[in-house]
Amino acid sequence: MVTTRTPLIAGNWKMNLDHFQAIAFVQKLAWALKDAKHDYSSVEAAVFPPFTDLRSVQTIVQADKYEIGYGAQDVSVHASGAYTGEVAASFLASLDCRYVLVGHSERRTLHGEDDAVVAAKVSAALGSSLVPVICVGETAEDLEKHGPSAVPVAQLTRALEGVDSAADIVVAYEPVWAIGSGQAATPKQAEQVAAELRSALRESLGDEAADRTRILYGGSVKANNIAGFMREPNVDGALVGGASLDLNEFASIIRYQS
Ligand code: PGA
Repeated sequence: MVTTRTPLIAGNWKMNLDHFQAIAFVQKLAWALKDAKHDYSSVEAAVFPPFTDLRSVQTIVQADKYEIGYGAQDVSVHASGAYTGEVAASFLASLDCRYVLVGHSERRTLHGEDDAVVAAKVSAALGSSLVPVICVGETAEDLEKHGPSAVPVAQLTRALEGVDSAADIVVAYEPVWAIGSGQAATPKQAEQVAAELRSALRESLGDEAADRTRILYGGSVKANNIAGFMREPNVDGALVGGASLDLNEFASIIRYQS
C-alpha cells in the first residue's frame, strides 16, 4: 500500500509578533500564496503564534477563508482549575486550533519539561481532538555520547505511551544543536533519524499509523535548504523558527517545489 503524506510547513513564531502583527502577517502570507497560486492540498501551511494572537488569527482565517492552519506553542496537562498561567487544550480547541506543539526543546530545557510531562501534554491535546506536534531531538552532547537517533527515539517512544494507534499526530525532529544556530542538519542526517523515528512509530502504533504520520525536520530551515530535506523519503515537512518570521522567506519555504 502506498501512503501519501501531505507535506506540512509549520512556522513556530516563538515569543514574537503580537496580535496586531499576527493579523497583518497571516493576511500577507495568504495573499502571497494566493498570488503564487499555491496549492494547499499539495503542501499544507500552518503557523504557531503566541497564545494572545490565536483569537485574532482564528478570526481572520475564518472570515477570509484562508487555508492556513494554526495552533498553539504549548498546552497544559490539566483540564481546568487552579493553574495560574496555564492554558487548557479545550480552550485551544474552542479557538479551532488544529495543532499544538508539545515538548519543544525550549520547553524541555527552559521549563524543565521531562518526557512524562510531554506524554501528559500529548494525551491532553488528543483528548481535545488537537493534533499534537511532538518535538524530539538530541543536544550536541547527546549526539556525541549516544549518536543521533537514540535520544529522539527514546523521547518519541515515551511520548507515545498510552496513545491510540488511530490518533492523529505529527512528529518534529529538531536536533537541539541545529535550532537557531544557522547550522542545519544535512538532509541525510535528518533522513537517518526520521527513518528511525518512523520505525519507532511502527513499533508503538503499528504500520498504518507509521505510514500516515508526518515527520517534520526542524532546525535552521531556510528557503535555500528546504528542498534538500523535502527530497528525503521520511521527511514530510518542516518546523521553521526564525525563518517563519520573514514573510517572503516563509512563503518561499512553503513554495519549495516551485
Ligand atoms: P529555527 O527554530 O528554525 O530558528 O532553528 C526551529 C524551532 O525551534 O522550531
